Order: sequence, then structure tokens, then C-alpha cells
Amino acid sequence: MKKIARFFIIVIISAFLALEAQTKKDYPLQPVPFTRVAVADAFWLPRIETNRTVTIPFILKKNEETGRIDNFAIAGGLMQGKYRGERYNDTDVYKWIEGASYSLQVHPDPELDKYLDGVIAKIAAAQEPDGYLFTARTTDPAHPQPGIGPERWVEENVSHELYNAGHLYEAAVAHFQATGKRALLDVAIKNADLVASVFGPDKRHGFPGHQEIELALVKLYRVAGNEKYLNLAKYFLDQRGHDVKLTQYPPGNRFAIYNDAEQIQAHKPIFEQDEAVGHAVRAAYMFTGMADVAALTGDLKYFDAVQRLWENVVNKKMYLTGGIGARHDRERFGTNYELPNLTGYAETCASIGMAFWNYRMFLLTGEAKYLDVMERVIYNGVISGVSLEGQAFFYANPLESDGKFKFNEGQLGRAPYFGTACCPGNISRFIPSVPGYVYAVKDDALYVNLFVGNTARIALKSQAVNIKQETRYPWDGAVKITVEPEKAGEFSINVRIPGWAQNRPVPGDLYKYIDRSAEKTVLKVNGSPAALNMDKGFARIRRNWKKGDTIDLVLPMPVRRAVAQAMVKDDTGKVALERGPLVYCAEWLDNGGEVLNLVLADDAQLKPEFQADMLKGIVVLKGKALAVTKNADGSIADKKEQDFLAIPYYAWAHRGPGEMAVWLIRN
Ligand SMILES: [Zn+2]
Repeated sequence: MKKIARFFIIVIISAFLALEAQTKKDYPLQPVPFTRVAVADAFWLPRIETNRTVTIPFILKKNEETGRIDNFAIAGGLMQGKYRGERYNDTDVYKWIEGASYSLQVHPDPELDKYLDGVIAKIAAAQEPDGYLFTARTTDPAHPQPGIGPERWVEENVSHELYNAGHLYEAAVAHFQATGKRALLDVAIKNADLVASVFGPDKRHGFPGHQEIELALVKLYRVAGNEKYLNLAKYFLDQRGHDVKLTQYPPGNRFAIYNDAEQIQAHKPIFEQDEAVGHAVRAAYMFTGMADVAALTGDLKYFDAVQRLWENVVNKKMYLTGGIGARHDRERFGTNYELPNLTGYAETCASIGMAFWNYRMFLLTGEAKYLDVMERVIYNGVISGVSLEGQAFFYANPLESDGKFKFNEGQLGRAPYFGTACCPGNISRFIPSVPGYVYAVKDDALYVNLFVGNTARIALKSQAVNIKQETRYPWDGAVKITVEPEKAGEFSINVRIPGWAQNRPVPGDLYKYIDRSAEKTVLKVNGSPAALNMDKGFARIRRNWKKGDTIDLVLPMPVRRAVAQAMVKDDTGKVALERGPLVYCAEWLDNGGEVLNLVLADDAQLKPEFQADMLKGIVVLKGKALAVTKNADGSIADKKEQDFLAIPYYAWAHRGPGEMAVWLIRN
């Protein structure tokens, strides 16, 4: 009898928990995971393959060569030696694990799987008995590495202990999802439990000097289901700007850059911040975490705050490429409209952060304007960060080069790796996740966010739908979508009509096109013209779908000329070229050895032309420009018309150093 009673109690509790789980707050729109989207196109598939076959093994080799993996073995007592490198080097291994795990999910590889197990065993060995994991300290606690402080977390504004933990959690979640193995997840949970036992409203007060753990705790919460991780993410955000204790380093010390609360976005509580300041990558990760906490707690004040910051970034602090962070100096945002081209920083990691952040803003609101920003940064400011061959990287992504200024961490061109190697690892984990940005769902509405050739199986509320996209995007704006619902039924397919196809390069007024394109977007359903029922930037098609139905979208891709708003002094009198989602640039060797002397007339005809054998296949823009030579006193000595050729911005710096410009002198 007792047994039966207990059984019923368990059933009732389970039902309650199931109901509770259903009512848990989350993003109103849900992403379709990259594992459901099989990419089959000429643009993204080679990139994902290059990342898998070249970049990921290459970064592993670099992590091995530079002692980044040995640091774990030393901390774990598995080998003798001294810690090598910067205090945040653990994260380069974590990001590599994350990228390798994503790759494994769509491309099983027993050798890689086994190798990962070996690295994870070293990480587990490096974890201290109470869960602490930070090899920069554990390798030799009596002689701490520069910047980490004599004890745990006493210099968190500089030490990156919590930043490292964040990348550990992201790697652990990815590895668990890829393999079902708990080894790294258990390490992450043990560490998060320690951090949660140390920090909190009634415990030690503090927050990370380098944000990242917030969004990572949200991922861990999703997988492990323990609400304390979400609460800790919220706590770290809430705590910024309160009880701020900054270690004051003497002038000239390399860590003196952290004497400044603005650098780490701790100058004000987050709800009072309305201008993006300080280190751009930290800011972008923080904004991403704010969107997560808004969605998962349902507390809209986080959304209001992050929306204000978004308005500031998109209207005043974003490069045409979607990049952010104008200054090399401390990797910071500049003042409003400070967007220098030659010395622009636009770190690859910050661009990736922009993609993370803008996608979450879209999932919160269903507004395509965030996807316009996301698409812009992915196709320009993110993929510029890795060479076409997959083993040379940009840390900074300026919009101009004079062929002399060594913008890339002291180098003029792309570099194989860096002492601080955040960007390569970030690229290696971002590229395989790109298919996860293509679709989203809300109840029985399917959102087509990006145009990428693929087949996908997508679960709507009412049924599963197989969908296929065929396209040569970004070279061509024609997209054919074939719909295969399991059974005929009514649901919506919302197809994004990009801002650039509606004469609006960006959501705000920072950039605009000087010409208006008369060419109209065409949408057809089963071959018949369909009205563009626009809703939040999407053409909404609601109908009774049956197997084999088709949507044909044609986004005209004329060459567009963009100008910046007058407050951007560095772009005054200049024009930039775009076609579709791509920003173009002129590079020296296509234009007679120089480009900073070129003047482009507003009415100069520019013709797009596909060049299959150039830079792995690109559409170039061809026309005429004026080349100006000047006298020593700056007066014009000579003007002559010459052939002009522009290439997609992402493809520059593959053919030796020299001049490059996105913004060209306008006439
Ligand atoms: Zn970076």
C-alpha cells in the first residue's frame, strides 16, 4: 500500500516538474541547431570543410607547440615543467575543444574523438580537488603568473580566472552534446559549483574582469538544468558597477590599462549604461549575456538596457563591416562616430561577439533588423578574420591599409598565430556553428534568416518540415526554397528580406546608400507571384503547405554605393561599394599598385563579374576610376583614368602587403 502511495506521489511530482519545465521562460523564438542543417553550397561548405580539415588541426598543433596543452598536464602533475604563456591561455584549448566538438557532431572522426578524450583527461587532472581550474595558478601557486594575484580571485579584474571558466563551460557543453560523454561536463559543473559557492549576494562580492562566464553559465544551465547557474550569470551582471575594487598598477606596468573601470564596463551598473565603452570583446560578450538573462528570466529591464546599448553601437560605433572597437589602444570602443579606417581595430572576436549578440536580440524580438547586422558582420567582419586557406588570421580588421602600418599585432598581413590567440580559436568554433543561424522557429512559424544552400529538418509545433534551399548567395540573390512537410498543413514561412534589398544597409542612420535601387524583390510561391506581406522585416507566407511546394525569392544585387553619416569624419567625402551582403574593397595589385589615390565618380559604371579562379571564386566589381598624383605641396599634378577593380572585403590580404581601402574618395 505504502509503495503504491509513493508511486502516485512520484507521478504527481514528475507531472508538476514536467509542467514547470514547459513553463520555463526562454527566447520566444528558438534557433534550429546547426546539427539539423546540412550545408550544401559553394560558399559555406568549403569554409566549414577548410575549418574542419585545416584550421582545427592547425590550432591544435599551435596549442601543442606553445605549451598550452602541457600547462594542463603540468598543473595536473602529469609532467614536469613550468607554465608557459599568458594567464588566459587555457581558453585557447577550450575554444579548440568547442570547435572540434561542433565539427565532430556533423562529421564523426574517431581519431579526433580519442584525441579529445586525452586532452580532457589532462584538463580533469589540472582541476584542484574543490573544483578550481586555472593552470596559470595551479602549476605553481607559490609563484603566481603576472596579473593573477597572490590568491584566487583577488585580482579578478585582471586575472581572467572567470573568463577562463566561461570558455571551459562552453567547451564542456559542446563536447557533451557532440559525444554524450560527461568527462568535461563534470569538470565544468564542479568548477561552476565552486564559483557559485564563492560568489553571490550573501557571499563574496565580485564580477569577472573579462565577461564571458555569463553567457557560458546560461549554456551550462540549459544542459545541467540547475537554476543556480542562471542566477549566478544574473548576479555577475547585476554586480557590475557595484563594490568595484580595481587593483591599481603603477604607470608603465602592462596591467595599468585595467586601472580603469570603463575598460571592463564596471563604471556604472549595467542598467545605467547607455553607451558602449571600454574593451569591445568584453562588451559584446556582456551584451550577449544580458540578452540571455532577459530571455531566461523574463526580466525585461535587461532587454531595455541592452537595447539602449545596441542603439548606441549600431548608430554610432559600428564599422560598415559590422566590426566594433575602433582603437588599438586597449582594444576599446572609441567615442561616438570615431571610426578610423587605417587604424581601426575591429577585432575578430568582437565581430563574433556581434553575431552572438545580434542573433539573441532577434530571438527575443523576431525583428529582422538584428539579422541585418548579424549578416553584415558574418559576411564581412568575421570571415575576414581567417585566410581562405584556413591557417592565417587577423586579430584586427581595419578598413584601410597603407601597406606600412602593422595593424595585425605588429604584423602587416595575416599571421599564423598570436601570443594572445583569442581570435583564431574563436573563428574555429564560430565557422562550424554558422548553419545554426540559418533558421529559427516560433510555434508554427518557420523563419528563414540567412540564405545558404542546405537541407534541413525542422520541428514546428504542429509537425516536422523538411526544407531545402538552393542558391549561389552571396554571389546571386536568387534563392529557391522547397518545402516538404510531413503532412499537408497550415503554417507560416517567414522569409527575411534583407535591409540591403530595401535600400537600407543598416537599421539606423550611420550608413545609407546614395543611389536608390529601382529593382524590386520578387517572391513567388509555386511559380506564381506572391505579395510581400512584411512583418518585422520578414515576408510572411501563411498557407496550407504540401510536399514539393516552392518559394522563389529574387533579391536584386546591383552594385550599391554607401556613405557614412556626416559625423564620421574619417569617411567624409568617401564612398564604399557593396553588393548583396558583401562590403567591397580595392586592393593595390588590382589597381596599378595604389588605391589611396583613387577617385571614384558617383556615375562610374561598375560591373559585377564572377571570377572562378580568383581568391577561391569571387564576384569582382570592374569599372574605371581616376588615379590622382600629387605634388610635394599636396596640389594635384595629374589625373588619369584607369581600370578599377574591387574585391569582397573578406578576401583581402592574400597576395602580399600593399594598399587597401573600403572607403574611396568620391567624386
Ligand atoms: Zn580576439
